[in-house]
Amino acid sequence: MKELLTRLTAAFGPAGREEGIRALLQRELENLGESGAVVDDLGNLIVSRGEPADRRILVAAHMDGIGFMITCIEENGFLRFTPIGGIQVHSLPGTRLRFRGGITGVIGQEKIKEQKDLEFSRLYIDIGAASGKEAEQQVQIGDTAVFNAPLAAEGDRFIAGALDDRAGCALLLETLKRLPSTLPQAVSFVFTVQEEVGLRGAQAVSYRINPQFGLAVDVTRTGDTPEPQFKTPVSLGKGPAIKIKDNSVICHPRVTALMRRVAEEKNIPYQIEVLEQGGTDAGAIHLSRTGVPTGALSIPCRYIHTPGEMVDRTDMENGVSLLLALLQTEWNGSWGRSW
Ligand SMILES: [Zn+2]
Repeated sequence: MKELLTRLTAAFGPAGREEGIRALLQRELENLGESGAVVDDLGNLIVSRGEPADRRILVAAHMDGIGFMITCIEENGFLRFTPIGGIQVHSLPGTRLRFRGGITGVIGQEKIKEQKDLEFSRLYIDIGAASGKEAEQQVQIGDTAVFNAPLAAEGDRFIAGALDDRAGCALLLETLKRLPSTLPQAVSFVFTVQEEVGLRGAQAVSYRINPQFGLAVDVTRTGDTPEPQFKTPVSLGKGPAIKIKDNSVICHPRVTALMRRVAEEKNIPYQIEVLEQGGTDAGAIHLSRTGVPTGALSIPCRYIHTPGEMVDRTDMENGVSLLLALLQTEWNGSWGRSW
């Protein structure tokens, strides 16, 4: 798991520029003997297993991450930028970034009276260029960057930028590796694009797949740090979380009940998640066409959307066990009835 997560978190892939991470995922799938992966027009990567096509679960993890886009190159060589996805401005000064071509930058800040009034417009990226002309030889307006934050492992904990949602991508790959060839229903695994800017890839791909059930695999916040910003009982190391709600979806009670039942039958530890902020691909999937009963499997993660995202190895492994068990369970004795 560590090696896989190291590769996945090192790949470049801010929302809208997922070419690097998608090529890596395609190689990982080929190494698993999976030759039939399809890329749709938005860039979603789709792998389908099993029959029949009219009894299908869509399982989604997003390949994109948050990032930064250059809006302006100033005469003195400094770059102004806009965030891609939800980023807290106060966490940024001093942070290292990397652009697609490998160029490193650091975020600097103008002097302001009150640090609490910091805005993105008072920040800039410094790539070491002495002038605007010199900067333009390296980067262009519209180029994107991500946190320069390679993976470190400390005991059972993994720390890296982009674990949201490369941890989910790793969980899908590991599940695919171990999934038996015969399944009670078909499943499409999708590595989606542009989740961080509004669940856009998932919206398009749900229409294409037309599933009877949906499941998103993503990270969720924890409340297990000193004076946590977000009050939630979810902790690292206590198992994957079964989502009840976030700001994008109220999960279908039949899906959450099935997830709890399977976890209990298989003795897989799990937690219950009610997230007051944020969303996942489940938000787009459940509103596709005439509606899709959808749930979400969440990997607890500290410091989401910072260069120091942290997840627990055992939560990942228990997440794989739960997803494997779920996909080997018949989801519906009477397909076509959603309640
Ligand atoms: Zn995410």
